[in-house]
Amino acid sequence: MEEEPLGPEEIRAYEERRPAWRGYFQRTPVRWGLRAERGACVLLGPHGCTLGPEARPTACLLYPFEPAEQGWTLAVERSGSVAEARASGEPRCLAVEEARGRGALLRAFGIDVQTLTALGKRLRAEVRAHPHPRAPVKGVPVR
Ligand code: SF4
Repeated sequence: MEEEPLGPEEIRAYEERRPAWRGYFQRTPVRWGLRAERGACVLLGPHGCTLGPEARPTACLLYPFEPAEQGWTLAVERSGSVAEARASGEPRCLAVEEARGRGALLRAFGIDVQTLTALGKRLRAEVRAHPHPRAPVKGVPVR
């Protein structure tokens, strides 16, 4: 696990781009993330994730999808669009680039909208239950 401390402006921008994470920073100015080495998660093996689905973080189970203000979106669309993400050079999902539409992407990942919705609810519950004991961030409004 890695900890990334964020300032109030970074927190506002983060929660703006990722509505499902709203409230996460009420109790901590630190974002938890999986440790990466040479640009990849340390849990990534030669044949994919080394964790079974039951142990995989909810955000990983959701990827490349992500809960939005209403419904769900593609994580890469935080950049604005797939084309903008490609132009920015930020890491992105090849399946998203190659898919002909969201329906094809759902089929490619073997997931349906009901499952996405359930995972989105689980993610929001985990965000609310985030146990980090650090102080709230000054200047971040309670939502
Ligand atoms: S699915 Fe998640 S835990 Fe597994 S390798 Fe990818 S980022 Fe790491």
